[in-house]
Amino acid sequence: MIQYKTKEEIEKIRKAALLVSKTLGMLAKEIKPGVTGLQLDKLAEEFIRDHGAKPGFLGLYGFPNTLCISPNEQVVHGIPTDRPFEEGDIVSIDCGVLLDGYYGDQAYTFTVGEVKPEVQKLLDITKESLYRGIAKMKRGNRVGHIGHAIQNHVEPHGYGVVRELVGHGLGRTMHEDPQVPNYGRPGSGKKLKDGLVLAIEPMINMGTHRIIQYPDGWTIKTADGLPSAHFEHDVALINGKPEILSTFYYIYEALGLPLGEEDEFRRNPDKWKM
Ligand code: MG
Ligand code: MG
Repeated sequence: MIQYKTKEEIEKIRKAALLVSKTLGMLAKEIKPGVTGLQLDKLAEEFIRDHGAKPGFLGLYGFPNTLCISPNEQVVHGIPTDRPFEEGDIVSIDCGVLLDGYYGDQAYTFTVGEVKPEVQKLLDITKESLYRGIAKMKRGNRVGHIGHAIQNHVEPHGYGVVRELVGHGLGRTMHEDPQVPNYGRPGSGKKLKDGLVLAIEPMINMGTHRIIQYPDGWTIKTADGLPSAHFEHDVALINGKPEILSTFYYIYEALGLPLGEEDEFRRNPDKWKM
């Protein structure tokens, strides 16, 4: 059952989401060759606890760490390891927090030094598809509009949309109804109404959409070993329109990049309608 949120609840989710955004921004400065996922995991846990929150993933369904760290061909749910990052790697980091009873949940795929142009393109297109999906989260549309917009944006590039893993509602629990697939038909799924809060999170593979799970029971990788990208925002439906609660601002600030699509989206969401 979908739990529609009050304005007060949405503000609490926004605070949790922004703490995740700040955590990712803090990590952005640390990601370089030689650094390990376990080092980032420790930094993130300390940062979250120092801000009066709890790591949202630690212990969730038995997950052993604060961050899901999924390099290169890993899609999501990677367990942090002591393998040092190398120049040319991409690293998807998914982070959740529990603050004042509400969850925030956000992901970003970082680059380690210079990456190949085709890999950078995968990241750019996946990030664009996130905003295309968010733009469809408006009153009168259905859940299927979101996934359709994402799928339509990435598949012409030959990319695969992971089927088995989806976005979700967010609130007092990390994963609520409805499920938000990154594929679908515009008229399908539940109608979108004010008070809905979703974590929208395209997981896009450079090649096949097919995935394999590691024997660790967590890590998901692409079946063909090609890279995969993951970007996630928390979004509330307010007055019929999507409002992005999380932000990539802290990441871009740390990396010295312009805010780009997110800034454009906040100023002119119509640009992203197809
Ligand atoms: Mg997430
Ligand atoms: Mg999520």
